[in-house]
Amino acid sequence: MQNESMLNLPNMHRQPLGFFPTPLIELTRLSKTLDGPKIYMKRDDNTGLALGGNKTRKLEFIIGDALAQGADTIVTAGAAQSNHCRQTAAAAASLGLECHLVLGGQEPEHVQGNLLLDKIFGCHIHWAGSNRKGEDIPNIVAQLKEEGRNPYVVPYGGSSELGAFAFVEAFKELESQRQNINVSFTHIVFASSSGGTQAGLMLGNKIFNSPYQIVGINIDKGETDKVPFDQYIVSLANSTAKLMGETHRFSATDLVLNSDYIGEGYGVIGSLENKAIAMTAQTEGILLDPVYTGRAMGGLLDMIRTGKIKKTDSVLFWHTGGAPALFAYSNDLEVAQSGSQSV
Ligand SMILES: *Cc1c(COP(=O)(O)O)cnc(C)c1O
Repeated sequence: MQNESMLNLPNMHRQPLGFFPTPLIELTRLSKTLDGPKIYMKRDDNTGLALGGNKTRKLEFIIGDALAQGADTIVTAGAAQSNHCRQTAAAAASLGLECHLVLGGQEPEHVQGNLLLDKIFGCHIHWAGSNRKGEDIPNIVAQLKEEGRNPYVVPYGGSSELGAFAFVEAFKELESQRQNINVSFTHIVFASSSGGTQAGLMLGNKIFNSPYQIVGINIDKGETDKVPFDQYIVSLANSTAKLMGETHRFSATDLVLNSDYIGEGYGVIGSLENKAIAMTAQTEGILLDPVYTGRAMGGLLDMIRTGKIKKTDSVLFWHTGGAPALFAYSNDLEVAQSGSQSV
């Protein structure tokens, strides 16, 4: 394990947008309640940009690249409750860039959660119906160019090589915090959905010669660019290594992507998510979100309960943000129906 001088990573254009390092804390009451392993949490829900989240890290490098290219307009896509789109809208506003969001579905009757925040940030919203992964972007970009603008497309979920590189940097940040408090981990567990977080953490784990199991909890059964998600993550990790001048290459067997907790699909909230949200809130006073971190924590709780993660292990749960979506999903949260739910 690297411990004296931290490796130097290559310099990329970086536009500061958030507050780093994010805190690393121990969840002692949750561990005790579960009679389980030590559980630590990396608080990327506190990245600071417009209620925070993991996309802030990616956007520092992606928007840095956009500015270096002289862009005046940012275009990206996501779901109506996309945390990525909300953080992109805030980043664009903070830099005086025009922002266009291409959102799946139709304008809902009640504007809530992330969508409400998108509107507060003054971005242009294009409703894309069933084209939920940015299929309409080329048309919108062509139109913007015709209007004389210089648009820059931020990929779905910010999961380009630059977005993944941000999570190599994040891994470095974690390692320096971990060494300061002199703890170690066996697993890093987090929600995986467009792949950049996982590709970056895998690569960081390799570059810093760390022994952790990098366990992505799969959130969405879909494909990205028509490539199965597991292959997509491995190839993104490899193209990011290449961008960094690293010679290491991953194969499919290096990936740990757990697809046991997808349930009824993306954004369908069940008892797994409800229990994880209530338990984390009521033991630690920490908010998870219904779509990503609620599902990932539900997976972690299940892996502890079934002995896949043992009491002697030491787990880092990477909190990737998302709590603004709680307000948009209140109808699916059991606490909203029953008054309260005790753990
Ligand atoms: C985007 C997102 C993720 C998934 O990160 P990827 O890098 O897209 O896999 C997890 N949690 C939250 C809250 C997110 O917004």
